[in-house]
Amino acid sequence: MIDLHTHSSASDGTLAPETLLAAAARRGLRAVALTDHDTMAGVPEFLAAGAGSDTIPVPGVEVACSWYGGSLHLLGLFVDHQNSELQALLGEIREARERRNQKILRRLAEQGVALSPASLRAESQAGDGGVIGRPHFARALIRFRHCTDRNQAFAQYLGRQGSAYVRRFLPLPKIAVETIHRAGGVAILAHPFGGGGRVAPAAVRQKLQKLAGLGLDGVEAYYCDANPGQERQVLQWVEEFSLVASGGSDFHGDNAPGIELGRGAGRLAVPDALLDDLRGRAEGWRKPAVPLRA
Ligand code: AMP
Ligand code: ZN
Ligand code: FE
Ligand code: FE
Repeated sequence: MIDLHTHSSASDGTLAPETLLAAAARRGLRAVALTDHDTMAGVPEFLAAGAGSDTIPVPGVEVACSWYGGSLHLLGLFVDHQNSELQALLGEIREARERRNQKILRRLAEQGVALSPASLRAESQAGDGGVIGRPHFARALIRFRHCTDRNQAFAQYLGRQGSAYVRRFLPLPKIAVETIHRAGGVAILAHPFGGGGRVAPAAVRQKLQKLAGLGLDGVEAYYCDANPGQERQVLQWVEEFSLVASGGSDFHGDNAPGIELGRGAGRLAVPDALLDDLRGRAEGWRKPAVPLRA
């Protein structure tokens, strides 16, 4: 079993990268990828923890991109976390996130919900360095009794229909795909049927067709909330568009209750064999270290 989509405390997961790797090893996973939102700050600790382990640590990142007025999520797997172009793109996204967080705080305050930047930051286990997102807002809203649970926090304030919702800068998929390639990684469409798994199959197919034209490498055929029919469908599109299948749980620790490492909501089982296909595809994007001469 492998799990190629997880979050640590460097973004909105609750386990430290090292603890996440240890938990994957305890579960007997052959490989686990760390794919925090917009940051690779957890990767050095994660790789170091994996060095002495039977579980292969795969460096990764998850980037939300704009898509016809909405968004989609791309994973970069096997990316070099020190690549300067990738770091520049992630830095730009994180700055935009900071500005958005300030605006959300202001909009909440206008509605009589006072949260301090410090109380928001306190919800991140990573302290000062962690990427702050809406899940941290949800935790703070619950802690200070403005909301009873996550669902209410998103429905009332943070979700797209919520009263404190603020859009943030999202890069174009083409830019994200090319940047991931230049960092030596593969670009994977995460949760193709959307967060709730309800996007219509025809729309998913069209999305994959367009993204394949932009250089997408693969797609998450296996995901925590995908049903067997959706899995089969995605595997057909993988063939049709010459993509590689990937899969993961989207584990967030306590920030996504009921989702387990490697197992997702219970029936997830990502085949080990995918790892070599993905790694092979990533190697295809690596330029030779020494330019070839005629
Ligand atoms: P952000 O990256 O700050 O825009 O926050 C996005 C994250 O919030 C996602 O990765 C989910 O974990 C979480 N999220 C988004 N929408 C919802 C929702 N309606 N209910 C619960 N969690 C959500
Ligand atoms: Zn998340
Ligand atoms: Fe996602
Ligand atoms: Fe995710």
